[in-house]
Amino acid sequence: MKIVCLIKQVPHFSSIEFDPETKSLKREGVPVELNVFCRYAVQHAVALREQLGGEVIAMTMGPPQAEEALRECLALGADRAIHLSDRAFALADTLGTSRTLAMALAKEGADLVICGRKTLDAETWQVPPEVAAFLGWPHVTNAAALDSFGGALQLSRETDFGFEIYEAEPPLVVSVGRAPATPVSGAGSEGPIDIWQATDLVDELREDDQRFGQPGSPTRVMAVRDSQPERNRERIEDVEQAARRILELLAERRPEPSAWEKPPHAAEIPGARYDCWTMIELAGRRPRRVSLELLGHGRNLAGKLGGRNVALVFGSPELSEELGRFGAEVVCVVEDEALVDYHPELWGETLKRVLDQERPHVLLVPATGRGRDYGPRAAGELELGMTGDCVGVDIAKAGRLLQQKPAYGGYITSVILGRTNPQLATVRPRMYEPVEPRDDVDVEVRNLKIGALPEPRVRRAGGTTDRDSYKIDDADVVSLLGPGIGGPEPVPLIEEGAAAVGAAVAGTREVCEAGWLPLTRQVGILGRPVAPRLLVAVGVRGDEEEAAGFVKAGVIVAVGAEDSAPINDAADVIVAGDWRRVLQPLHDQVSAGLKT
Ligand SMILES: Cc1cc2nc3c(=O)[nH]c(=O)nc-3n(C[C@H](O)[C@H](O)[C@H](O)COP(=O)(O)OP(=O)(O)OC[C@H]3O[C@@H](n4cnc5c(N)ncnc54)[C@H](O)[C@@H]3O)c2cc1C
Repeated sequence: MKIVCLIKQVPHFSSIEFDPETKSLKREGVPVELNVFCRYAVQHAVALREQLGGEVIAMTMGPPQAEEALRECLALGADRAIHLSDRAFALADTLGTSRTLAMALAKEGADLVICGRKTLDAETWQVPPEVAAFLGWPHVTNAAALDSFGGALQLSRETDFGFEIYEAEPPLVVSVGRAPATPVSGAGSEGPIDIWQATDLVDELREDDQRFGQPGSPTRVMAVRDSQPERNRERIEDVEQAARRILELLAERRPEPSAWEKPPHAAEIPGARYDCWTMIELAGRRPRRVSLELLGHGRNLAGKLGGRNVALVFGSPELSEELGRFGAEVVCVVEDEALVDYHPELWGETLKRVLDQERPHVLLVPATGRGRDYGPRAAGELELGMTGDCVGVDIAKAGRLLQQKPAYGGYITSVILGRTNPQLATVRPRMYEPVEPRDDVDVEVRNLKIGALPEPRVRRAGGTTDRDSYKIDDADVVSLLGPGIGGPEPVPLIEEGAAAVGAAVAGTREVCEAGWLPLTRQVGILGRPVAPRLLVAVGVRGDEEEAAGFVKAGVIVAVGAEDSAPINDAADVIVAGDWRRVLQPLHDQVSAGLKT
């Protein structure tokens, strides 16, 4: 089997600093490394080659120094490497990058393409589905395990709910989020590394060629801002006093519900009125909170655009009234049994057809395990710009969507504008509040006809569910467990206590990789970001890799950390004492206070 691994060299995220004078990033002397998920991609490819025979090729599009990352892939066991290096490729966004990579893949030929699930610098998650769209191949993102049997591949895809199992025959694009369970150490090779320029991919290169680099990229980073929040770092000995202080901070930082009142139309182009659409995702039969958050904020955007607030639902028509109560003026439904359970190919294809047919001005997609999968697939299919993982969206001049997206672990926020329509963005959970629901609203329901869906090339073959995993996006209070809890024994009791007050329980990398909690509840730069109103870090050291997962939390409390632990700098309140005596009374008092 011929396997191409797409890899990217990234600056070490915690070494990136913001220069307040030049209002730009300090890049001089910043150490670079092979993106960790790309390392996993090469390790999976080498393990598959051991089973199936064939060849592993590492490919990157990047500046001359990216050769170092390719050498690292060769040392991990890749047979050879291809370096796409040309000034014409510079400043590409994910669409420009994916188009170029797909051209190179078509030239090289491959049975299987393995990528990382995201990079640690721009973290869009978009390149793998967009590359697959350009190639016209199916994709499976965020695979934790990858095996071959009888000519097919079996993949376990990590989701916000657990794991979905898929089977498929090559060709396929896969992105991986975990190292193989038993990495095979490759023999290590010296090369060769071929350098390909734009003229190796096209017969004729035009000036400002719209296929490459910035001219071929619909989104542009307009500015970067330092977004490291100041934290209070108050050390309090007494639990009751700590609970009172935490409640004060929670009250000061209480997020407002989104407003029913739509702001006035801010048209610069006479007569221009546009709708704002939100993709609705479900958990069970109910809309996920993040969808309601975006739908609530959609009223604000739709007001400024002079248009209507539209909810888009796949599968079930039953939710229209509920979505009206949460701010939708129009509910568009694509009714099809095949869309009731999530399927990457069918959801991606459906969204592509809806966007192509309806051309909404703006579509907000939840930055969930699903949204990051079908969203960029549809963007790639239609060659539309997309901003990934936004923490804020607003309307700028002439109805353009102003997108704020975190980068480098959330310590920097970039401001991004796109130039294609529909304008697409994935937005993180808990960046907005839903509206206060109302019963006295009229909602228009439209059934969208998009034609018969194709037979999927990737087959769903079961899976497992941890119902508490997605709740770490929803809960007001998240307790994050670190290795300081000493072992898996106290976890059931902590979960029981948390459940009693409606809190969710998540874990650091060490805790989840040790199996004390499911992998799908891992928080951090290598896991998921969370932004609850209150994050209680229990026995967590709070190194940058961990703290990047909760930079956006409203109030952070550290319990049971050593005095020297970095969490004490990242926390608003540090509660002294043994966490076993502190945690439950703190949970109880704060949760009771939150309800009053
Ligand atoms: C601060 C900042 C924010 C940005 N935000 C956006 C945005 O919202 N939308 C947008 O379209 N662009 C954005 N970009 C541009 C984007 O970073 C580049 O296009 C980049 O090459 C790919 O995106 P990513 O790093 O997010 O990749 P991801 O999609 O997160 O990467 C997933 C995997 O794709 C593969 N891959 C990614 N890049 C390459 C490559 N160059 N060569 C080989 N394989 C690769 C790797 O396997 C990687 O693990 C941003 C850039 C910066 C600096």
